[in-house]
Amino acid sequence: MSGAYDHLVTIGAVEGIAELFGSEGARDYLGEPVTVAAHLLQAGALAEAAGAPPVLVAAALLHDVGHLRAARPDRSVAERSGRELMAGHDNRHGARGAAWLARWFPPAVTEPVRLHVAAKRYLCAAEPSYFSLLSQASVYTLSVQGGPMSEAEAGEFKALPYAADAVRVRRWDDQAKDPSAQVPGFGHFRPLLAGLVAPLGA
Ligand code: FE
Repeated sequence: MSGAYDHLVTIGAVEGIAELFGSEGARDYLGEPVTVAAHLLQAGALAEAAGAPPVLVAAALLHDVGHLRAARPDRSVAERSGRELMAGHDNRHGARGAAWLARWFPPAVTEPVRLHVAAKRYLCAAEPSYFSLLSQASVYTLSVQGGPMSEAEAGEFKALPYAADAVRVRRWDDQAKDPSAQVPGFGHFRPLLAGLVAPLGA
């Protein structure tokens, strides 16, 4: 019984994510030359090419799922406007995406997702050369996300359990904005995601 139930939960989770990639994922990505879905598929492919473990490939693939969720027609107007971020507000997409994913995925997936915005602020403080790698849109959002971390904030961030993983996801995130990149479709990642789903309470 519970085996069948778990199977249904796994199908539901992966299909729910696939549906987001296929619908809201087709939107443009906050001033970048790629759609959100293409950006996420590129990030997942970069993680895979780097030999990252499945939990990190999933984190890279899903790091902006909060943007996709926020774009759904059933969300509030304020939440829906991904452009809210570009208009000067941080829509906290990392935390929202992680909270949604936590229904099915372990912290090794959700924590790097939650921390990927903080990782940008951390890298700006920790690596002087990092800032020059950021896209124009990403430099703008940095300013509404709190700007570079102070030394004390960077020290606290670095001590978090998933800080190093969040930094890895961040680097793939920053590279995954190439409009000419050839990336696998969402289906390529289905088995990997299905293998990680563990419903809460199971
Ligand atoms: Fe991103």
